[in-house]
Amino acid sequence: MSSFEFSIKAEIDRQLGRAGEIKTPHGLIQTPAFIPVGTKATVKAVLPESMTELGAQALLANAYHLYLQPGAETIDEAGGLGKFMNWSKPTFTDSGGFQVLSLGVGFKKVIAMDSDLWQADDVIADKKERLAHVDNDGVTFKSHLDGSMHRFTPEVSMQVQHHIGADIIFAFDECTTLHNTRRYQEKALERTRLWAIRCLDEHQRLTKQRATHPYQALFGVIQGAQYEELRRKAARDLAEMKSSGIEFDGFGIGGALDKARLGEIVSWVNQELPNNKPRHLLGIGEPTDLFTAVENGADTFDCVAPSREARTSAVYTTRGRFNVSNGPYRKDFSPIDQECSCYTCKNYSRAYINHLFRSKEILASTLATIHNEHFIVSLVENIRTRIIDGTFQEFKASFLSKYLEGKSLPK
Ligand SMILES: [Zn+2]
Repeated sequence: MSSFEFSIKAEIDRQLGRAGEIKTPHGLIQTPAFIPVGTKATVKAVLPESMTELGAQALLANAYHLYLQPGAETIDEAGGLGKFMNWSKPTFTDSGGFQVLSLGVGFKKVIAMDSDLWQADDVIADKKERLAHVDNDGVTFKSHLDGSMHRFTPEVSMQVQHHIGADIIFAFDECTTLHNTRRYQEKALERTRLWAIRCLDEHQRLTKQRATHPYQALFGVIQGAQYEELRRKAARDLAEMKSSGIEFDGFGIGGALDKARLGEIVSWVNQELPNNKPRHLLGIGEPTDLFTAVENGADTFDCVAPSREARTSAVYTTRGRFNVSNGPYRKDFSPIDQECSCYTCKNYSRAYINHLFRSKEILASTLATIHNEHFIVSLVENIRTRIIDGTFQEFKASFLSKYLEGKSLPK
């Protein structure tokens, strides 16, 4: 019996955006919601209690990293991801497809590889050692930790994600880049479609075999890069897909996203997807992108940006982003953001955090991460409130005009 449900509470007038609620075995997620990333089962530098206090409703970890270290079986023995990391609320894992290819290739941008199409799609990794190889059955890759060889197939990804035990898991997909040829995108998309069927079958087999474990919802992942025809086809294929008697519980929008066309791409996909299932946009977390994604019908988002940027001393405020370790903040005793109600802003000044960064104290990362994660989580929470009371457009206009004028902040 599935204990996973999604319901819509309100919609944005004449747009695809909505406010809803996802029910999981570990509690509710009020959507739209930003899901902070704890790649290796920890949000770097921050206690789970602080994540709860700053308003995080769920966390997303990464199957690839946890498979390599400490191993998915270890997490299973611990009683699942939430128990292992002392987080009682909902959890997500992404399938490992992105990391297998991006880290395996050892390149910043993901590159798809296929021996038949070597020429056209091999340009970026020119002088790089190739550490990941895709074939129709799966991906063989070299661990970025110790160079050992591994293989992920749709079945392996499902087994790993069942052992980790997150409430929401993703189908294994082939991630391509914007640089791949159209011909390659079509080929990768068909491969991802066939892998999605295998994911449903293996997921259903594992769900039955592990019937005493909490229900895990499986989301299909829509690829298709910047091509409307491919994105729409992928969305329709996955929406209609049924195998072993089950369908996807929700959908992920993944792969190469041309940021300038984010709204368009998300809307193509969401026009095709059924209304009654949740949609997660993978890897998006900048404030301007969040408004675009929400109004085009995405319900949840994850991104490493708020914590990664915090560790480099870049902080978000309602008046834009600035670098708190820079000179002008040395004797600035005001909080990072006057309007912020987070633990960091209630208790610490820009000058103190500036000092921590300059003296390389680890507390700098903790305080900056708490602020950034709170900023993004509560921004999306406010967006939700404004969808419900019918003032989303007004909120978007007032937030963005102030946020984008922040270029005037002292550097
Ligand atoms: Zn704050």
